[in-house]
Amino acid sequence: MIKIQQNISLAPYTTFKIGGPARFFCEVKSEDELMEALNYARNNKLEFFVLGGGSNILVSDDGFKGLVIKIKNQISKCKMTMQSEKCLVECWAGENLANLVKFSAENNLSGLEWAAGIPGTIGGAARGNAGAFGLCMADAVESVKIFNASDNSNIIYDENQKSKIKNQNYNSKLKIIDNKNCKFGYRTSTFKESNNLIITSVILRLQKGDKAEIEAKAKENIKKRVEKQPKGFSAGSFFKNPAVKNEEIRRQFETDTGLKCKDDKIPAGWLIEEIGFLGKKVGRVQVSENHGNFVINLGGGKAEDVVILASLIKQKVREKFHIQLIEEVQFVGF
Ligand SMILES: Cc1cc2nc3c(=O)[nH]c(=O)nc-3n(C[C@H](O)[C@H](O)[C@H](O)COP(=O)(O)OP(=O)(O)OC[C@H]3O[C@@H](n4cnc5c(N)ncnc54)[C@H](O)[C@@H]3O)c2cc1C
Repeated sequence: MIKIQQNISLAPYTTFKIGGPARFFCEVKSEDELMEALNYARNNKLEFFVLGGGSNILVSDDGFKGLVIKIKNQISKCKMTMQSEKCLVECWAGENLANLVKFSAENNLSGLEWAAGIPGTIGGAARGNAGAFGLCMADAVESVKIFNASDNSNIIYDENQKSKIKNQNYNSKLKIIDNKNCKFGYRTSTFKESNNLIITSVILRLQKGDKAEIEAKAKENIKKRVEKQPKGFSAGSFFKNPAVKNEEIRRQFETDTGLKCKDDKIPAGWLIEEIGFLGKKVGRVQVSENHGNFVINLGGGKAEDVVILASLIKQKVREKFHIQLIEEVQFVGF
């Protein structure tokens, strides 16, 4: 049975460490508990927000007026099925990526090494098609199990027994979406089309490999991150890297950095450097001094400061390059 709490500060549940309280808050560690939470929201006419590891969100200073449903970590729920060289691993959406990378290495399974060091849950990663070092979730996902909360009308809440669900035939509402129907793209998927699409588990397609090699690759990736990634409270890359049609800008980027544009994309961080915003501060929030696409909370930062800083960045980049930056970070409660 889930416990509904009230006025819970959301800042500690995010990597940005910013944001006001959730009016209602609960943690769920199974599909049954998720349904219970959704029923609570429906019966009390509350909006809901599904929270994973909180590593890709900015919560408003006023918090969230509805019910925040935190999908809890539970490694024991991973199920493995071997199919010759291929291994399918079904994991609960709340599973931490870090735990999964460790779990795969321990089971001699390769295919997730690129994800070593990315914070957050597998559910959040599938929704945003998280990626690094040229690979992404789309390369590892066999299928995704979802619940569409917009059609949960057949779940009946037993008012007499308060938190007990009478009719659990929601199983018929759980759908499996195979990889090609997930519409994975650069930091996007079909699951971003509606907040009612809740990922309950992700089925990964991994390959048999050598434990020592898998561990070494994962370690190397973590090392690269530690060397390159700014320290401090952030939500990772703040903006998506834009695809740039203007050849002159692409050429300027390639000449300045010695790097090649991939799929016409230019790193948002480079554009932000070019407008002279490295280290730019608003209140207790700052563009990292060595990475233009990392907005850092120096401690005590406000969501409002982040929004002002992001608006200034977008305006300057548009003025200088005629490029419209789009946030990768999801805004909650605005
Ligand atoms: C230091 C740092 C480094 C990072 N590096 C990378 C990187 O290299 N590559 C990369 O792609 N990202 C990176 N990120 C961003 C972030 O870690 C990923 O986007 C991560 O996959 C988000 O998962 P989460 O569980 O934290 O999602 P959250 O932040 O909790 O949620 C993000 C969005 O997903 C939704 N969501 C979460 N779980 C579910 C679910 N089960 N069903 C439906 N919707 C759900 C939420 O409602 C929200 O809209 C980094 C972040 C940090 C702080």
